[in-house]
Amino acid sequence: MSEKDTREVLTTLEEARAALLATVYRGAGAPKAPIEVVLLTSSYEVSQMFAQGPDGVRIRASFPFSSFIVLGGQAKGGGIGLAVHELAHELGWRFLPFGKPKWYVEGAAKYLETMTYDPWSGRLSRGVVSHEKARWMHGNDRLDAERLLAGDEGATADELGRFEETAWLLFHYLMDVRPEDLQVFQRRLAQFETPETAWSEEFPDLHGDELDKALERYVQQGYLKTFDTELPMPVFHVRTRPLSLAEVHGLRAHLLAFSQHDHPEKAFDPTPDVKAALAADPGAVEAVAVALYRPAAGTPPLAPAMRTDLVLQTTRAHPDDWRSWVMAAAEAPLGSLSALAALDRAFKLAPEQVLVAKALAITLSAMKRYGPALYHSENALAGLGDDPDVLALHTLLLAETGNCRGADFYRAAFARHHETATSRQRTWLDSPCTSQKSE
Ligand SMILES: [Zn+2]
Repeated sequence: MSEKDTREVLTTLEEARAALLATVYRGAGAPKAPIEVVLLTSSYEVSQMFAQGPDGVRIRASFPFSSFIVLGGQAKGGGIGLAVHELAHELGWRFLPFGKPKWYVEGAAKYLETMTYDPWSGRLSRGVVSHEKARWMHGNDRLDAERLLAGDEGATADELGRFEETAWLLFHYLMDVRPEDLQVFQRRLAQFETPETAWSEEFPDLHGDELDKALERYVQQGYLKTFDTELPMPVFHVRTRPLSLAEVHGLRAHLLAFSQHDHPEKAFDPTPDVKAALAADPGAVEAVAVALYRPAAGTPPLAPAMRTDLVLQTTRAHPDDWRSWVMAAAEAPLGSLSALAALDRAFKLAPEQVLVAKALAITLSAMKRYGPALYHSENALAGLGDDPDVLALHTLLLAETGNCRGADFYRAAFARHHETATSRQRTWLDSPCTSQKSE
């Protein structure tokens, strides 16, 4: 892609980020960790690599990779909404980091993607209904409420489209007609209530047929609200640098390792790129990360000595990259001083990274340093509230520091959201509370 096009997308993303922070996520404080975005030349590439249908995708954090967004080339110019959509998902996870129902996740992102911003007048409008959406609204192609609330996206691109559009309509309706109830619903989710309970108690009048009818009336009456805000044009500088050969192959390996994440049997093989990256730079961070933690299915496991070598080369070649150090910690014995020393370095480089917080919480907990571990698990929870490990570990740490009510709360939250627990999670969840022990 040309540098000019890339700058255009970056400008769009920065404006969208500023707009989302100024309106929807007001007062929450901007997340400090940078948001990683990869722009492929075409949306065709995105659909080939990641899934059928969508032109953009957000990949959730998976050790030692942070979450990241992949967009297709059409994100520039006319396709600005796509960039905003994925960015809204990412910020949504950072601000509301707990299990959310699918209709809510897609509805909110769809609602925000039609946001328009005029940098010259500084006017930001949201809730805008495009011609396309208006036509769809009256076209009677809605998914019924039951399936929408149940998160039934269907199997085909068409069905997924219908799901997303109907989710958009529901979100628009709630924003316009029931904004306070929507706020309370959101707060209840943040308290780890299940979406079903929160919905039936906040919207007891909107069940099945009733919701279908309410949406129908809303469409017929035809007053969808638009909100206008003044927003000064954000000031930022774009810096560019070429990637080294090792970085190019490393990035390709990273993308391929997450390809077809819903259909692992169709995934692309990152191995040739891992090899090419390591040939150019034996410590290439992303290539090492793929080799250690996301190798292609069927790859024979690496010998322990080989793993140690790779990590050593990474920390030597890239001591300024936090991922080098979380990998070094993961390869060191659990709860060892060398693991802690490596994580301290990662934390100094990237204190805002939730994966660093999670690793520190696990390591300190294994060393029975529960107080400091709790500090880090709070931070991990703020970005990984849907991660069962983090919920279970947080339960243990609250119990060990004498906060029995807190521990009960998170144990119950875990049980509501996760049907099964691994044996490690079971141990964490079942830890008796210390202040009860002394009673
Ligand atoms: Zn989406």
